[in-house]
Amino acid sequence: MPEKDFSFKSDDINIEKVIDDYLEEEARPKKIGSYYPSEIGMCIRRSYYSYIIPKETAPSARRIFALGNNLHNFIAQALKDSDQFQSVEEEKPIKIEYADGSTSFSIYGRIDDYIVTKSGKRIIIEAKSTGDVSKVNQPDPKHVMQIMLYLSAQAADYGILLYADKKNLELRQFRVDYDDTVNKKVINRFKDLDFHLRNNKLPPPEYYVDDKKVWECKYCPYFSECMQAIANGD
Ligand code: SF4
Repeated sequence: MPEKDFSFKSDDINIEKVIDDYLEEEARPKKIGSYYPSEIGMCIRRSYYSYIIPKETAPSARRIFALGNNLHNFIAQALKDSDQFQSVEEEKPIKIEYADGSTSFSIYGRIDDYIVTKSGKRIIIEAKSTGDVSKVNQPDPKHVMQIMLYLSAQAADYGILLYADKKNLELRQFRVDYDDTVNKKVINRFKDLDFHLRNNKLPPPEYYVDDKKVWECKYCPYFSECMQAIANGD
């Protein structure tokens, strides 16, 4: 029997292209004075560039986000279906206003899931998808900063950082209690970002000078701009 030809022909429907078109989004310029909890744990210079030089998210990263969103939707559905809770709110918006003598700004976020148990405990859940949950022994400090802001803005007994493995849905959860010292540090990071943006000053290359974080630079969309700045002495 002759071997069948299963190869893809150039005029066949390309499903990968259909998916990339579906996920396509325009780069939306961000406004100085409007900040986001999910970004404040990242390199301050990278956050700064994202305001000054908005870039579209790469198709490969958009697909990863889409997978993560699907996983979050699944977790939210499971929570809603459970009879352990009085209520489950998904994507609960929060807004934090900050003002001092020199500046003011707003922080906008969305709590993945806000649940109230039958016994009245209020819990904030922030879900993160990961490639290998067995390697997650501690919550990522970026994620602790994010949930700390939510805990400062929304009445809750505690938070849960939930890591879900994209391969097999294995889960690992960490409890996060509100800590005022950590929250003040997070607000100071926003103030730092705000100061650099309003004064058009490039922040230091935070991750590049940190031995534990420099590996993330190679995935940074502003790698070339940052390296050029470093070469110029900034
Ligand atoms: S390349 Fe590294 S140091 Fe530079 S902006 Fe990106 S993450 Fe920050």
